[in-house]
Amino acid sequence: MAIMKHEIIEMMAFPREMIRGNVPLETCGHTGHYAHHDPECGVCEARIECEWLYHNDELSGLGEKPLADLLEALQSALLYIDACVARAGHTPSKCRCRACTWLRRAESLQAAASR
Ligand SMILES: [Zn+2]
Repeated sequence: MAIMKHEIIEMMAFPREMIRGNVPLETCGHTGHYAHHDPECGVCEARIECEWLYHNDELSGLGEKPLADLLEALQSALLYIDACVARAGHTPSKCRCRACTWLRRAESLQAAASR
């Protein structure tokens, strides 16, 4: 089980990078650091991504979280990356790009975890 957790945490690196690249930092008053007490963050269009980052960055102590939480975070990341590649017109089952490769790995990891 410990190995699985480690794998999931490792899998978070790619969506983290993608999300960081997509959060509109130039208009964000918190330089992409989600602030749950700021009402502006609550209505921001990047809120979901930012909130995910906030809960899953390198400093959020992922290693201490229960497996269920990590799987939930992986699931959100999956949906996010899935939406990204769909928008870009990729076919995740065939495409060899980083995002699609990640998607396939994340899906098989998820399947392995739910067995
Ligand atoms: Zn692709």
